Amino acid sequence: MPNRLAVASLLLAALPAAAAAQITAIRAGRLIDPEQGTVATNQVILVEGEKIKDVGPGLAIPPGATVIDLSKLSVLPGLVDAHTHMTLTYKDVPEHNVYYYTYVTDSTPLRALQGASNGMQLLNSGFTVVRDVGNNGLYADVALRMAIEQGWLPGPTVIPSGPMIGSTGGQFWPTPEMYKQHNIMYPEYIDANSHDEIVRAVRENMLFGAKTIKICVDCKPWGYSVEDIKLVISEAAKGGCKVEGHVQTTDGAQRAIDAGIYIIGHGTALTPEQHRQMAEKGIFLAGTDSPFTPYYGSEEGFKKNVAQLKDAWEKKVPLTFSTDMDYYKTGNQMTRGELTINFLLTWKAAGIPAPETLKAMTINGYRAADVIRERGPIKPGLYADLIAVSGNPLEDIDALREVQFVMKNGTVFRRDGVMTPEKFFHAGPVKGWRTR
Ligand SMILES: [Zn+2]
Repeated sequence: MPNRLAVASLLLAALPAAAAAQITAIRAGRLIDPEQGTVATNQVILVEGEKIKDVGPGLAIPPGATVIDLSKLSVLPGLVDAHTHMTLTYKDVPEHNVYYYTYVTDSTPLRALQGASNGMQLLNSGFTVVRDVGNNGLYADVALRMAIEQGWLPGPTVIPSGPMIGSTGGQFWPTPEMYKQHNIMYPEYIDANSHDEIVRAVRENMLFGAKTIKICVDCKPWGYSVEDIKLVISEAAKGGCKVEGHVQTTDGAQRAIDAGIYIIGHGTALTPEQHRQMAEKGIFLAGTDSPFTPYYGSEEGFKKNVAQLKDAWEKKVPLTFSTDMDYYKTGNQMTRGELTINFLLTWKAAGIPAPETLKAMTINGYRAADVIRERGPIKPGLYADLIAVSGNPLEDIDALREVQFVMKNGTVFRRDGVMTPEKFFHAGPVKGWRTR
């Protein structure tokens, strides 16, 4: 067997020395700035390797650059789903959409592979960043992030939470048979009651690759106190993580707000006064604003979601686009990406102007995902994640439903409305096995 180090040095020697990164020049007919809500025409975006090198009108295109002509399209940064579950898909068959059973029927490895497929479907619809917050088996979300970061397959940038942390029982009501040995349903949740257990749970998730921390604030009558939540926040901060609280009661919401949580997940229990407080404190809302469609939801639930989203917007809460997407409906031909973008139905019904919706889907999403220093805006030095559509989403948000072009980390994933992911598939990881 040859000496591995010798083989490694031979392989390294075979690489071209200081190979210049390929430059791609994108001609953007309309370049949209979602932060300002403005459009600049006839722009050129220069991409070098994975990152944006320069942006401006009439930039000189370097010789040898690959030119991508999007002069008939609107170019904009990639979209964000700030609350989703790529590695959970409950189904009509076999589990009758009861997601307690999904944990029994679908193993963590299977769920990671489902997540790989869901990730590509989301990227194909223009979602370049997703926060994946709990219900991931044994860290399927982290595995998915790592596989994408290492370069095994295309997908959005995943901000994984690992298992949700909650007081005994988590979000579920396990039977004693499920609970005692922690074999069924666990490790879907980490039980953490005392302060020692909370610290240990947060550290465990960060050790195993979580980039955000998700807690059950009030899933049980014995939910977390303001002090408990503050402890989660300070411990998570040590690992550079922000905290999202799953909230389902008004009391729980108040404790999360008082503790200064970063994101509140699910908007149904929030009062107008709490919206006002969230706006004042700059707490993000991931409302998970489900629409009413032939395949999902109820008219009553939809009306409630619309009213809540509208009030949050009127009170100036920092809104994110968020779906809680976790289902597949037999016979429905929509992709995970199409199911996700269809949540626009709720935003339109709430009367939120297109530029505000676009801001929630981009800028606010990058902030909530805490990636804005590295990716999101189309600015020099940031990763080249961008999409293009035919219409102008500042005027008609439904333009986002027909994504023509997707670039992720400088590599084209979709072009002329067709998925072209070949360049993402190659013989091995490009970023090393320790990338977490
Ligand atoms: Zn959720």
